[in-house]
Amino acid sequence: MVFDLAGKSVFIAGHNGMVGGAVLRLLKQRGDVRLITASRRQLDLRDEHAVGAFFTNHRPDACVLAAARVGGIIANSANKVGFLYDNLRLQNAVIGAARASDTERLLFLGSSCIYPKLADQPIREDSLLTGPLEPTNDAYAIAKIAGLKLCEFLNREEGRAYISAQPCNLYGPGDNYHPTTSHVIPGLIRRFHEAKHSRASETFIWGTGTPLREFLYVDDLAKALVFLLENYKDPGLINVGSGEEISIGDLAGLVAEAVGYEGVLKLDPSKPDGTPRKLMDSSKIRSYGWRSRTSLQEGLRHAYADYLSVIEA
Ligand code: GDP
Repeated sequence: MVFDLAGKSVFIAGHNGMVGGAVLRLLKQRGDVRLITASRRQLDLRDEHAVGAFFTNHRPDACVLAAARVGGIIANSANKVGFLYDNLRLQNAVIGAARASDTERLLFLGSSCIYPKLADQPIREDSLLTGPLEPTNDAYAIAKIAGLKLCEFLNREEGRAYISAQPCNLYGPGDNYHPTTSHVIPGLIRRFHEAKHSRASETFIWGTGTPLREFLYVDDLAKALVFLLENYKDPGLINVGSGEEISIGDLAGLVAEAVGYEGVLKLDPSKPDGTPRKLMDSSKIRSYGWRSRTSLQEGLRHAYADYLSVIEA
């Protein structure tokens, strides 16, 4: 192990989000890490002076930067100024404060949308900046690329162990279940649950059902991020995927099974398919010995339990 987190203090920026929440759960369970968090009301992460003072006060040994302004395809394409500017401010403030207070380790959470729209599949880390981005989320992607490059340059020029991980599509506790702005798994969980309760004989899946996606349970991602903080300090970015591809049609069948919806699943081709295939090449993180552990069936059961706890709360 390069850097043992035992006895260290870790600031989780974005602990109320899906990824930050999973990292918080994992480190709490582990019990030997001093956790530092701040709610949005306590600390505006875009405010570089406030973030600088926060780091000076708390002096974290490590930081997981999982905070970002995020949104679905509609929000992303309608407010590019906000997505670019807020994310640049937030990540510059946090990475800058970590640097100024000599935080030893920092992990910046990237996204698979940083890669070119037409990158060869499975997508390798070295395809970054080899072609144009998907235009609907270019503002978000450009901010993420600026953040991961800043980490890379701080790593190369100043020898700081600041790294960046790029996850595939995520799902699990803390997801967004909004009917139109959610991603596919939480969207289908909600739709199938409502169809089960209204005894609807059929319900819809967006698009043609043929696109292929790779899904990772968010608690597996949290394990990968902690693993990387402790074991990886190279400047180059690193993909984190499950390696398992599934078509949206087959996925819908598994979600229906997890939810217990027995009606007919119909396609709604008037809705967009998005990119036909999005698979990460995760051979680099695997070469370090990391693997995802949660099967899609098991993860979907947990995700449905989370949805039930949210609607019953
Ligand atoms: P993407 O990976 O950025 O395309 O993210 P999404 O999770 O939003 O969509 C993945 C795929 O699932 C697309 O092909 C969608 O058309 C399809 N899909 C099927 N039903 C749904 C749904 O209810 N919500 C969403 N968001 N996508 C759906």
